[in-house]
This record gives sequence, C-alpha cells and structure tokens, in this order.
Amino acid sequence: MMSQVETLIASKLVSDAEQQGIKLVISRSLLSRLLGCRIKKIEVWAYVVWVLPERGSPRFVSRNHIWNGFHEIRKKEAQVLSVHPPRHSSELALVVNACNSFSFSILSENGHPVCECIDFQRQREVLGVEHSACKHILAYYSSLRT
Ligand SMILES: [Zn+2]
Repeated sequence: MMSQVETLIASKLVSDAEQQGIKLVISRSLLSRLLGCRIKKIEVWAYVVWVLPERGSPRFVSRNHIWNGFHEIRKKEAQVLSVHPPRHSSELALVVNACNSFSFSILSENGHPVCECIDFQRQREVLGVEHSACKHILAYYSSLRT
C-alpha cells in the first residue's frame, strides 16, 4: 500500500506528464524491467508509448501503465537502500546501496530534496525538482516516517 507521500509523488508525476503533452521521462532500462524484454526503440505518442522490443512484435503501452510501473519499480528498489545521517550541513542524507556500494547524497534545493543520480537528473529536466523522485529520494522519504 502506498503512503500519502508516495501517492502524492506518483499522482504529481502522472498529472505533470499528462499536462506536458508528449513529454514523458522514460528510462530504457526501467522500461525493459517493466515489460520484461530488451527494448530496441521507443516512441512517445499522445496517450501511449510505441515500443519495439529487440525480439518480437512492436506494441503500444499506455503512459499511465508506464508511470505507475516505474513508480512501483523505484519504490521496490528503494526498500533495499539504507539511509545514513548527513555528513555535512548541505546534505540531508546519504543513501547507500549495500549490494553494489554505490552511494548518493540527498541535498536540499529550495526546500526540495534532490539527488545526483542519472534517473533524478533526467526527470528533473522535464518535471522540475519538486516533481522528480528517484529510488534514493523515495528511500529518504521513507526514512523520515520511521
Ligand atoms: Zn537518486
């Protein structure tokens, strides 16, 4: 079950994607995981995304299905991350993935948490800082509730 914060983020992402017409932040690796196949080509249409898998026939996938699926994947990935206290005053937290030892600083920008990872930076270009949420940000929000 989604928390209030996560629901808010998800609904914002969906509504912003809808308002911005064809602008949709799609990560090829996330889409591959969501659809369970390797992706050769993607085209974002008005209400759907046309996907050409490396093997098999092209198909259409609804944008809402992709947004909700991406959020669920990020939320699941956030569960294995550990959130550590800030190391300096400009840091909100340090999020560490124990599996691969990657770590990302969560910083504050005009009161909004920001992450330095590629996923966040891609979302930020389209949706802005306040509506972007990577797995590290979701892990950080989750740590605030405990
Ligand atoms: Zn991140």
